[in-house]
Amino acid sequence: MASWKTHNCNSCDYSFVGSGKPDALMMGPTIPVICSGCNEIYDRIIHSPIGEKLNGKCYECGSKKYIEWDYKAKKCPQCEDGIVGESDGGVLIMAD
Ligand SMILES: [Zn+2]
Ligand SMILES: [Zn+2]
Repeated sequence: MASWKTHNCNSCDYSFVGSGKPDALMMGPTIPVICSGCNEIYDRIIHSPIGEKLNGKCYECGSKKYIEWDYKAKKCPQCEDGIVGESDGGVLIMAD
């Protein structure tokens, strides 16, 4: 079971909903990545436990290019010095 939380930047109005750290969905393990197309953070499945071919791409813009998000530094991808932290509100539990 994975819990997705709302994450908000403390410097701009950027926010995303996701695990914000390495996690696992029913479809496989995920890591948080930054889309190279639109600078959105999303959880990307890194490999399939059943060997299924993954067509991982950004939900927002469809780009397949990404860089790993440094989830310990929590830097905002959309402004210079913002930190993206978990919000207390808006917890979304994904029940497998
Ligand atoms: Zn920001
Ligand atoms: Zn994108």
